[in-house]
Amino acid sequence: MFAQVIFPLPFRNSFTYSIPADLIDFVKVGVRVVVPFGKRVLTGFVVNISEKTDVKEKIKPIRDVLDDKPIFNKDSLKFYEWISEYYISSLGEALKNSVPYGLDVESKRKIVADMELSMELYESEKNKKSIKAKILKLISEKETYKISQLQKLVKKKSIHSTLKSLEKKGALTILTEIEDAKVRIKKVKYVKLSQSVDETYKILPEIESRSPKQVVILLELLSANKPVQLSQLLKKTNTNQSSVTSLFKKNSVDIFYQEIERRYVETYEELKQDITLTTQQDKIVKDISQKITEQKFKTYLLHGVTGSGKTQVYIELVKKVLSINKTALVLVPEISLTPQITTRFYNNLGDNITVMHSRMSLGERYDAWRGVINGKYKIVIGPRSALFSPLKNIGLIIVDEEHDSSYKQYELTPKYNARDAAVVKGQLSNCLVLLGSATPSIESMYNAKLDKYELKELKERVDNAKLPKITLVDVTAEKKKQRTEGNFSKVLLEKINERLSKKENVIILQNRRGFATQIYCEDCGEIEMCDDCSVSMVHHINRNIMQCHYCGNTKPVPKGCSKCGSLSLKFFGTGTQRVEDELSFHFPSIKIERIDSDSISRKGKLGEILNRFRKGEIDILVGTQIVAKGLDFSNVTLVGVISAETTLWLPDFRADERTFQLLTQVAGRAGRSKAEGEVIIQTQNKSHFVLQKVLLNDYDGFYENEISLRERNEYPPFARLCLIETKDENENNARGAISDYYKIISKNNKYLKLVPPAPALIAKIQGKYRYHLIVRSYKKNDPGGKILRNAILNSMIKYNQKSRYRDIKLYIDMDPQNII
Ligand code: ADP
Ligand code: ZN
Ligand code: ZN
Repeated sequence: MFAQVIFPLPFRNSFTYSIPADLIDFVKVGVRVVVPFGKRVLTGFVVNISEKTDVKEKIKPIRDVLDDKPIFNKDSLKFYEWISEYYISSLGEALKNSVPYGLDVESKRKIVADMELSMELYESEKNKKSIKAKILKLISEKETYKISQLQKLVKKKSIHSTLKSLEKKGALTILTEIEDAKVRIKKVKYVKLSQSVDETYKILPEIESRSPKQVVILLELLSANKPVQLSQLLKKTNTNQSSVTSLFKKNSVDIFYQEIERRYVETYEELKQDITLTTQQDKIVKDISQKITEQKFKTYLLHGVTGSGKTQVYIELVKKVLSINKTALVLVPEISLTPQITTRFYNNLGDNITVMHSRMSLGERYDAWRGVINGKYKIVIGPRSALFSPLKNIGLIIVDEEHDSSYKQYELTPKYNARDAAVVKGQLSNCLVLLGSATPSIESMYNAKLDKYELKELKERVDNAKLPKITLVDVTAEKKKQRTEGNFSKVLLEKINERLSKKENVIILQNRRGFATQIYCEDCGEIEMCDDCSVSMVHHINRNIMQCHYCGNTKPVPKGCSKCGSLSLKFFGTGTQRVEDELSFHFPSIKIERIDSDSISRKGKLGEILNRFRKGEIDILVGTQIVAKGLDFSNVTLVGVISAETTLWLPDFRADERTFQLLTQVAGRAGRSKAEGEVIIQTQNKSHFVLQKVLLNDYDGFYENEISLRERNEYPPFARLCLIETKDENENNARGAISDYYKIISKNNKYLKLVPPAPALIAKIQGKYRYHLIVRSYKKNDPGGKILRNAILNSMIKYNQKSRYRDIKLYIDMDPQNII
């Protein structure tokens, strides 16, 4: 028998291996196998099994099988095939998403140096600036390196021939080591009584006088009436291992190993609410429930205003899915930022549900994943990556806050959009898909208008709560009237004061972190920039540093201008730290907490802050867009926006949409129960169309305007965009590569619209120059995007064959969310 194996690497082909007799029962489609590959050992996925093969070369045998249950089957493989085809990656790169990180068995090459000899050889090479000299210097200082480490240190990938020649001279040896998986099943010691209850009681008097501790242990085991984890037993009885060992020797207890599940614990807590659905909620739940039983594909778009109780609709639908023995997938934007919704699902669905996300430890993720494969968990809640969890028999896929741009994978290939992919997954699994939002994306609403999706609406808040009253404050005018203090208008300060005096809570949004966003020299005009990126450094006052928000580099704040030395430095721009600082000046006795990625970097911190906010131990929350994400606290009656401009002028065709969504969402945090809510938005563009629509809470008006702009300017949903990026430390390489690719793709494509490539808006990140090319194809000629994909792929193949820049990688981003 033969197996076709795919590797999680950028190759497009599969490789054939023979299945040794002792593994025949274990090798199945969908399991991972360990196989030799060249001189290496790799983990790959079995995608097919056959009795014959046409392969003529020597076929190597599979070494080992890693999974006892398949991760995917022929049907779910189709989904990965779609992902790789649509987002233009290899199938292996798509399949890589199907397993949690840390499970592969792989060989890693490393080198071991003869340090003395290297030192001698280095002496004679010293004056040359060659790679050889650099490597010799490194290996005369330290004995072992991973090859990848050396590549990084000398800033060059192709060091293999140099290493080979040094190996010949005896300066180093290249070794291959097999690295095991980084996570394993966790087993711990348990203790149980080895005799019956009666017999155990009988021996108590005997040992009582000499070994009182042993008696305590036995009594604890008797009362537990089941095996107890050793560590917990010792803690509870305040004894130590020797007492347990003595009992073991007397044959009174057994000690054995048992697997335990590492479970992620959400720090945010609240009590379960008992809820009776409103008439509108009930109607939607009934309609959709009925369809769930039909087991057919269909997509709904739930447009429900903020506070209309969408979460409860989701929960009821998931209960329905469980009742017919199916499973459900619930996607949320960034789970570590949305502890409240997770907790509500947990409260309602208990042991059937698991989370999956990157803030869990490797072990927690692995155990959750196995729990899903084994059918223990029937519901998975998680961010975009949860789309790949191995649920079988799916009845419903929910995408909450479907407009959120974090559904787009932007770092790794394939750069999939989990919202769009969820719809395809629904189609392939014959199940329902429910996209929900108070501010649906333009694309989804357009699909609803075309009847591709069925629109469901919740137009009112639950409990007769009113949408908050919004006021726009023209900060330029207020400044002229001297009615501002720092970043606050007097109006906003007065409102905050009023709410605080009524013991109500306030949320303040400023969508930038740090203290000052620019450090500027008044004499020469220089702005302090990151050395590696073409962006300005942000001042963080707590640690008194400047930080680049693109690469994370930090530097001390300079005493003088780094260009002319002048001491007249000015700190411009406002981040969350400055807002927090000003607030504590105005309201010294008030408890304020800041929420941004700096302040909540520790696991569980956000949940802790929100717990305290819910209990009334915090009065004001200040933060970045994180504070706009679904928070539901009944005591929040005022939301203040320091500046509506942070997203408005981004050079991106979605800037208006993002601003509308952010402001509407943050406004939606106010007045979610009986007490009426109020929103103050400070702006310099009071009459801007987006702000006017936010003011009137007019999603439909905003949509109508935006969709006609999109049509006129030929943007999605009327056209499909693909962004191609090259990057390199040498600017000529990045530019040369993209120009070559552009020449190739422009040749034969009358249906595509191409604009010559250009430096990216942020021209350099982490020391690499970036170039962008946007390829556009119109839906009317190319509805499914096939022409576009073929052109991109074929041009890539040609580029890889003949461009002299072919070592420079092309990064493909289909349907990009961000073109900066
Ligand atoms: P949305 O996600 O639509 O903004 P939520 O789902 O957070 O709104 O619901 C807002 C609040 O209303 C929550 O506190 C929720 O528990 C409550 N709620 C939802 N449905 C009902 C209902 N039928 N009756 C009473 N309260 C409800
Ligand atoms: Zn200067
Ligand atoms: Zn940087």
